[in-house]
Amino acid sequence: MEVVLAKNAGFCMGVRRAVETTLDMVQKGETTITTFGPLIHNPQVLKLLEKQGVRILTEIPDQATGAIIIRAHGIPPEEKKRLEATGAMVEDATCPRVLKVQAIIARHKNEGFATVIIGDRDHAEVEGLRGYAGNTGQVVNSEADVAALQLDGPYIVVSQTTQDERLFERLKEMILQKYPGGEVFNTICDSTHKRQEEVRLLCQEVEALVVVGGKTSANTKRLGEIAESLGCPVFMVESETDLEPQAFKRYARIGVTAGASTPNWVISRIVEVLENMTKEGKKNAELV
Ligand code: SF4
Repeated sequence: MEVVLAKNAGFCMGVRRAVETTLDMVQKGETTITTFGPLIHNPQVLKLLEKQGVRILTEIPDQATGAIIIRAHGIPPEEKKRLEATGAMVEDATCPRVLKVQAIIARHKNEGFATVIIGDRDHAEVEGLRGYAGNTGQVVNSEADVAALQLDGPYIVVSQTTQDERLFERLKEMILQKYPGGEVFNTICDSTHKRQEEVRLLCQEVEALVVVGGKTSANTKRLGEIAESLGCPVFMVESETDLEPQAFKRYARIGVTAGASTPNWVISRIVEVLENMTKEGKKNAELV
């Protein structure tokens, strides 16, 4: 069996930046380092940070010391103000691409536009974006959501940065048909676009796909859904212990990709285990 590793598997720019910011602080000897919420959606990375003494803050206290790091997904502006009011040093590791979406929403809100966010209602990034839209913000993630959508003035449409491109296009068209004249910003990030397109191509080349990433990672889940929608058998795994040799016996060619918060060392280990399982070589995909 051949193992084909996707070229764009693993850490995206925003996640790498957030992890490096945190590790830099550890190296500098900052005494108390906390992240507001999990820094990224990957259990192995979170465990590594915990070993380095980085703790996770779940509630904003009245007072705090040391450094508090804002995760790559960003947070609502009111929460940022409350963190700053604790007295701790606040290090904002929000991904620049998420900051850009926050700025688009804030600017249009000031100009009287409502915001429709195409994204997962409970995802941290979307919660942050909603904070910038205030009570003019609405989230849709399905045709039923669009059918229930109520707007009564100028509006903009933005996307969660890791949204499925095709779903975004479909829902955006439905919204414009229902309420013509909206201004649309496709804010899906380039890294997501490449990763998703690569999965579509990879599925034409392999018999099944292994998607590596945290169970709570929305962008990892989305890669699996895209492959499944194309009829490609999918194995969602967090680490090599999730690989069951029996399940792979019937395949001659397997693809491997990973979510934006999956570290390289986990991906390499998966590829290694699959290779040892099959005693065949891997081949790097040259798809994008
Ligand atoms: S997926 Fe894109 S927007 Fe999200 S953290 Fe990574 S680089 Fe930033």
